[in-house]
Amino acid sequence: MVSNFKMSAAFDLTDASEEFLAAPLRLTVDLSALADNWRDMAKRSGKSRTAAVIKADAYGLGTEDVGQTLYHAGARDFFVAVPAEGATLRPYAPEARIFVLSGIWPGMEDVFFDNDLVPVIASQEQLAFWMSTVSERGDHPCALHVDTGFNRLGLSLEDALALADDVSRPASFSPVLILSHLACGDDPESPMNRQQLEVFRRVSDAFEGIDSSLSASAGIFLGTEYHFDLTRPGIALYGGEAVNGAKNPMRPVATAEARILQIRDAKVGETVSYGGTCKLARDSRLAIVSAGYADGYLRSLSGSGVAVRNTGIVGAYGYIAGHKVPVAGRVTMDLTIFDVTDVPRNAIAAGDYIELFGRNVALDDVARAAGTIGYELLTSLGLRYERRYIDAL
Ligand SMILES: *Cc1c(COP(=O)(O)O)cnc(C)c1O
Repeated sequence: MVSNFKMSAAFDLTDASEEFLAAPLRLTVDLSALADNWRDMAKRSGKSRTAAVIKADAYGLGTEDVGQTLYHAGARDFFVAVPAEGATLRPYAPEARIFVLSGIWPGMEDVFFDNDLVPVIASQEQLAFWMSTVSERGDHPCALHVDTGFNRLGLSLEDALALADDVSRPASFSPVLILSHLACGDDPESPMNRQQLEVFRRVSDAFEGIDSSLSASAGIFLGTEYHFDLTRPGIALYGGEAVNGAKNPMRPVATAEARILQIRDAKVGETVSYGGTCKLARDSRLAIVSAGYADGYLRSLSGSGVAVRNTGIVGAYGYIAGHKVPVAGRVTMDLTIFDVTDVPRNAIAAGDYIELFGRNVALDDVARAAGTIGYELLTSLGLRYERRYIDAL
């Protein structure tokens, strides 16, 4: 596949560190795109406040840099999954509220109180524990997660309504936010969105005077009635697709690249990689690239000439010198082979970098080739990438 557009040097590397320039795997995180994406989400959230969800090390991109950037952009509400993530974020978001989605368990009191973290209470057990904790230690904010049809975390509707009416609850029990989560927000046609909305309205009304929050990235696109007081975007901040089948309006944030270690010629009829599943249909040039499934370049991205999933997609593509180049054969732990036969011989050499996803290859296109979602690719990146944060603050 011959392409006419020139190789776009994806990034200006003049101030890149030696480590970065020499690294087998590079991850460039564009912090100005990240901040722009947050502002875009804030604009789409209208009158509602806009939080930032930075669980799982900010979707794999780094809690510290991401947290600080979003704090400077104006975010004052953050969501993490576990308390340690909140403690990591705290110095970078000094005045922010940090909500911990997995809630609190006995023995965790100090990390919550010392770092001023807000537990998101999701069950009767947690509720009982939290009530006794605040009775002893005094007032501390919490949030309440109510399940409206997801059947994941959250108090049942009945328990939540009973709690709202419970006059015997301790005065030091002071929820500041009621939240729920949509199961099908990424599908605007799903009737479940409206069903959950109706249920959530009952909860939100019952806790009158307390802020409420229903929508993650996808829900923000469903429109104003889904926004309530606070929206909770995650994936959209990182440039991922929030809504199925719609054009993604977000700027790409993460670009993953890996070095070509060797380029080899192979003959028609020969096979490539483990299992010999990819049989070459022509004389080919193969680029052996320093990234594999240990780097989150998932084995399901393998190209064997046969679609292995019902997506109909045969393996992933990388990008180099203006060309999209397909994965050839199975992805291995540390190495992936790309078919670069269609790239002019003198346009690339061993030592060059191939883009795995980012500015030129959409994160979600790669994810689809693996039968998964951008979230999983980002959170699977692993430890071997040399990271570079550009356009900070
Ligand atoms: C992960 C998560 C979010 C963010 O979801 P995105 O789809 O990444 O925007 C919001 N709320 C809850 C409860 C979550 O678990």
